[in-house]
Amino acid sequence: MTIKLYNTDGRSVQEFIPINPNEVGIYTCGPTVYNFAHIGNLRTFVFEDILKKVLEANGFAVKHVMNITDVGHLVSDGDDGEDKMEAGARREGKTVWEIAQGYTDAFMLDLQHLNIAQPGIWCKATEHIQEQIDMVKAMEVKGVTYQLEDGIYCDTSKIKDYGRIANLDIEGMQAGARVEMIAGKRNFTDFALWKFSPKNEQRLMEWDSPWGVGFPGWHIECSAMSMKYLGEQFDIHCGGIDHVSIHHTNEIAQSEVVTGKKWVNYWLHSEFLVLDKGKMSKSGGGFITVQTLIDKGYNPLAYRYFLLNAHYRTQLTFTFEALDGAAQGYKKLKARTQALLSIEAEETVRTQEAINKFLNFCNNDLNMPRALASLWDVLKNPEITDGEKHTVVKFCDKILALNLLQEAEVLTLDQQVEDLILKRKEARENKNWQEADKIRDQLSSMGIILVDTADGVTWSKA
Ligand code: AMP
Ligand code: ZN
Repeated sequence: MTIKLYNTDGRSVQEFIPINPNEVGIYTCGPTVYNFAHIGNLRTFVFEDILKKVLEANGFAVKHVMNITDVGHLVSDGDDGEDKMEAGARREGKTVWEIAQGYTDAFMLDLQHLNIAQPGIWCKATEHIQEQIDMVKAMEVKGVTYQLEDGIYCDTSKIKDYGRIANLDIEGMQAGARVEMIAGKRNFTDFALWKFSPKNEQRLMEWDSPWGVGFPGWHIECSAMSMKYLGEQFDIHCGGIDHVSIHHTNEIAQSEVVTGKKWVNYWLHSEFLVLDKGKMSKSGGGFITVQTLIDKGYNPLAYRYFLLNAHYRTQLTFTFEALDGAAQGYKKLKARTQALLSIEAEETVRTQEAINKFLNFCNNDLNMPRALASLWDVLKNPEITDGEKHTVVKFCDKILALNLLQEAEVLTLDQQVEDLILKRKEARENKNWQEADKIRDQLSSMGIILVDTADGVTWSKA
């Protein structure tokens, strides 16, 4: 079956032709682990997961690499300001390494909650410093770097086709931006490859390099690590739409100047999830996480279902009312599909047709809303037997990953209360009074009264 994908590099829907006939190499920009991932970040990771599952459903082996940014991403997203990791460490009174580990663990749990498959290869920026230094050295040999007081920079005027993926109006930007430029920068679009540690100050994360002690610029990690694991040319690179004009533009510049070849064949970007009050941002605080949804009683898969009802290239506004609607839809879908569990799956010409139809929508630039609608059509069609429906659902759920054929975990009220009491006990033991109070409030809203006794906590129904 033909797969069509919208390629940001070229701005058109194109037939997907992999470099190797049976294997696809994908690199996806991973999280910056200075805080929890918010549900906007996770929209991008769900989109990438769907892409991967669609390719697998088409018979491809997918080699997926994702990085963990644990150094060098500055709060400005540019070349000045504090490192997000160091800011996180200061905020929480921990070491940068503790911050990185804690939020990496939290991210893994988010992936699990949303049924996002882990990549085959994880790579951390801090574990690939030498590869990044080697890449900057290779750029130096090509004559596209220069040194300023605070670091080594790429001279973007020497890069052929710089900014092509973003259709950047370089001259316009240059004229408008003179004032904000770091002193000595030759062009507005030049970017840091290696930053020096500030004089008379030891950074929490810093390494030796041929140019002086410091740390890598944010973009270099993705070029260096993707090429290490996927080769000098690979099939697909993904990320959120915000990465097009700076991060991915600079990744392309670095990689292509070093190899002299086209680097990535297909660039896919997901549009943003926004709040009705505006942008959801990780550094701005006040963002919604998967845990927020769980605490409010939502099944995280209802959020996955919510995302699947929008095309990845349209901006999506998040509201709890909209999530309630999706949660209802998901509940109905699950009620129908679970009823098929006890019925033996039956394969017929009709099931093949329904599966092809579903997959065709997926293959058409991941049109998941249409794919989902086609699954609903099958479920509602009285002429299709339950055995046939079982076969179709089983196939579709390999991509949707909504646990459609899994027994719902029915927790009795007793089990739920006991679980929460245990969580509260742990929170109190850890002196996490805020969390303990939150759990007490949650129990109280369920009509449960807690009584602390010498033998522990007892409870009764109000
Ligand atoms: P970060 O952890 O900030 O490096 O971002 C991780 C991923 O989330 C990147 O691919 C971003 O482009 C993406 N992203 C950031 N904010 C949003 C949002 N509101 N909606 C969708 N994707 C986002
Ligand atoms: Zn990246």
